[in-house]
Amino acid sequence: PPGRRSPVVAVRSGGVAAAAPILTQLRGKCATPLPVLRRVADAMAADIRAGLAADGGDGLPMILSYVDTLPTGGEKGLFYALDLGGTNFRVLRVQLGGKDGRVIDTEFQQVSIPQELMFGTTEELFDFIASELARFVEKEGDRFQLRQEMKREIGFTFSFPVKQTSVDSGILIKWTKGFAVSGTAGRDVVACLNEAMERQGLNMHVTALVNDTVATLAGARYWDDDVMVAVILGTGTNACYIEHTDVIPKLQGPKPSSGRMVLQIINTEWGAFSNSLPLTEFDRDMDSASINPGEQIFEKTISGMYLGEIVRRILLKMANTTALFGVSAPEKLCTPFTLSTPNICAMQQDESDDLLTVGTILNDVVGAQSSLSARKTVVEVCDTIVERAGRLAGAGVVGILQKMEQDSKSLIFGKRTVVAMDGGLYGHYPQYRKYLQDAVTELLGPETSKNVVIDHTKDGSGIGAALLAAANSKYAN
Ligand code: BGC
Ligand code: MG
Repeated sequence: PPGRRSPVVAVRSGGVAAAAPILTQLRGKCATPLPVLRRVADAMAADIRAGLAADGGDGLPMILSYVDTLPTGGEKGLFYALDLGGTNFRVLRVQLGGKDGRVIDTEFQQVSIPQELMFGTTEELFDFIASELARFVEKEGDRFQLRQEMKREIGFTFSFPVKQTSVDSGILIKWTKGFAVSGTAGRDVVACLNEAMERQGLNMHVTALVNDTVATLAGARYWDDDVMVAVILGTGTNACYIEHTDVIPKLQGPKPSSGRMVLQIINTEWGAFSNSLPLTEFDRDMDSASINPGEQIFEKTISGMYLGEIVRRILLKMANTTALFGVSAPEKLCTPFTLSTPNICAMQQDESDDLLTVGTILNDVVGAQSSLSARKTVVEVCDTIVERAGRLAGAGVVGILQKMEQDSKSLIFGKRTVVAMDGGLYGHYPQYRKYLQDAVTELLGPETSKNVVIDHTKDGSGIGAALLAAANSKYAN
């Protein structure tokens, strides 16, 4: 009877065809027809509103960035940016030339974050960051001579939820994206970095601490005045947008900075959203097994860290209850996170009749021998999960635009509005991008959606952090 689950028994029968009912059921549970998308967009708008009203309620975090001036193009000088995100750590040096020169030069160095540092101590992580920074600064050459009496200034992009206390300080609320570094939550991450730089003998100064979405928005806005929203779809996910301070009730009382503030970039932390999402047993099981159960549910449904893992869990169930990959499930398929989102992306690009690439990946990555019909099933599973993710991300974008439209009386939908997108998932997964765009178009309708440009920014966040360092410089101008 509906609502009661029959006990799971490991019967493998009926060949690959037996997986069909599981697939059909999965498709039903993951379906995102227009009414579902509408519900999600409306819930997103409502949670944004609730989060702007007060902290700690049912709403989204809606973190004030204290970024209240947007890049003008006039920024000038040599600035550094640090970018600590999901899988990589980057150091950049950006030479800004002012109105006519714009970005004269950028150099960067990227390293992947050693696994053990994600589970280590705060000091270990920040010592690593500071030492990479020191190595980079050493190779600076003589370019810095002119400003030698000044401290080098840094825009620090820190892609985790931080309760900002000013534009250049903020307290880590919690780690996400698989990080479990001890002792950082509750501490000012700029102070952590400063202490580590001191240990390295490095004389540099953080003038802006920003989320990656905020840096992306600033970077994109530098080139295009119509950018109002920025979204990251990478290892994790998040969005920020430009809000008017008079519709931020929780900002009432002592104003956080100067009186001139009329707008401010708000970091939604939409990864924490969870209302009215179409979820399955696989999502719930993955969440319970995660290091942050009950948290970041939207992120777990739509971002790169998790899509491959959801697919793995579905395939494992199919392999355990049907003969998808022969008589038993391959051992590697039982290990969490063996199947990555780049893997499922690569499988979905296979257009050959015999799905050779799919077969190779299944064999190499999870040790599965597959028939052609098994491969077809696998591709269908990938597509189901990616379609849900892309369309839900699209509904999230529309939720933000809807909220902005409600408060600004047609200033959003009545003119060209750009949503700056970044992150590896968005950048590398064509199907994901298409599903997202389709959902936005369906929700907004053909006329309005013509005004809404969803645009991939390339490395907006590196330049963006440098621009914000410049805008908040103690020395420049
Ligand atoms: C973090 C956000 C970040 C996003 C994208 C999420 O896990 O909570 O702060 O912007 O990932 O990097
Ligand atoms: Mg990043």
